Amino acid sequence: MRFAIIGAGMAGLSLASMLRQSGQTVEVFEKSRGVGGRMSTRHTPYASIDHGCQFLGSRTPEFEKFLEPLLEMGLLETWTPRIIHLNGERKNPLKQMEPGLERCLKDAALLMEEMLVPVGDMNALCKYLATDVNIRFSTRITHLCPSRSGWEVYAGDHNEALGWYDWVIVTAPPAQAGELLPGYFKHLAEIKKIGMNPCIAILVVPSRPLDLDFDVAEISNSILNWIALNHKKPGRGEHPALIGHCDFRYSNQVLEQNPEDLKEQLITEMNRLLGGAIGSDCHEVSVHRWRYAQSDGNNQAGCYVDRCHRLAVAGDWCLGGRVEDAWLSANKTYQILSNTLI
Ligand SMILES: Cc1cc2nc3c(=O)[nH]c(=O)nc-3n(C[C@H](O)[C@H](O)[C@H](O)COP(=O)(O)OP(=O)(O)OC[C@H]3O[C@@H](n4cnc5c(N)ncnc54)[C@H](O)[C@@H]3O)c2cc1C
Repeated sequence: MRFAIIGAGMAGLSLASMLRQSGQTVEVFEKSRGVGGRMSTRHTPYASIDHGCQFLGSRTPEFEKFLEPLLEMGLLETWTPRIIHLNGERKNPLKQMEPGLERCLKDAALLMEEMLVPVGDMNALCKYLATDVNIRFSTRITHLCPSRSGWEVYAGDHNEALGWYDWVIVTAPPAQAGELLPGYFKHLAEIKKIGMNPCIAILVVPSRPLDLDFDVAEISNSILNWIALNHKKPGRGEHPALIGHCDFRYSNQVLEQNPEDLKEQLITEMNRLLGGAIGSDCHEVSVHRWRYAQSDGNNQAGCYVDRCHRLAVAGDWCLGGRVEDAWLSANKTYQILSNTLI
């Protein structure tokens, strides 16, 4: 059978790899220039920064089994960051940390899950899954048209026809998936109800060494809720680089503003939280807007398969909001397809 998969993130590529290994013909369409989706790394002349997904964790035996050989191959490494908690309400949060909090939070985080990080770039795992998969980059799918017993797929401003497929599987976030799916798709109403929260990210490459004795700060009472020293992850290089994530509420408030206009406020807040450690002179400061960062609810569907119309939808948001959910969703889609069709 011929499968068209829309999206070259964790869900799309996991599914592509499973289908390809079972002898199916698969073509992946991706609107951006590379693989990874929200698992991505921005490269600057000085440093590389993971500006979306920060680390992987495993809560199910299935995903653990999938990750095991990748750890053995050295594609993934365990990361044990020193984690602190900062209270943004304090005037100088770094100096006014409550004694003992660092250790207590670190243990709590490690009890919850081990942090795993793809070595080098965050999208290294997706690159691996993409091996031998036929992917068309810079190709935004705009339209699906029923044809014979399958689908004709169209892309770009001029609605260029790209080919005919028995099945189409959409792995875009729900709002974007909803735009592509026809009105008679069995699960459309359900999908349209699922919301995604945004996340504004600030990427900083300081021009001076950082005198900070932690790797990750979890933050309360501030517009920033996470700061990581990206260069402390395995294989990210030596040059100091920081990533900061804003909380959903602030990200929603400023979502439609030009990210350039947020720089000043965000770098000032990051500097305040870190006791001025970054200074005023940086090699690079940029702001990235993740419009669809993580789902706002707890969906249990796993995936949506309409056998009658030969359409399926998968993605992290079908289960939760993590890389593991993206893989589990792809795996569930594959199980349904392979049990009934392949
Ligand atoms: C700021 C942030 C922090 C996060 N932190 C963590 C974390 O620490 N740990 C964790 O486990 N998870 C984290 N996540 C979530 C994690 O990144 C996602 O769960 C996972 O990457 C989702 O994979 P996916 O394949 O379902 O979706 P995506 O990665 O979003 O892939 C969908 C792909 O579809 C493409 N696409 C969309 N529409 C079209 C179209 N019309 N035509 C062609 N292509 C299209 C997109 O370009 C994209 O590449 C974070 C996410 C964000 C944004």
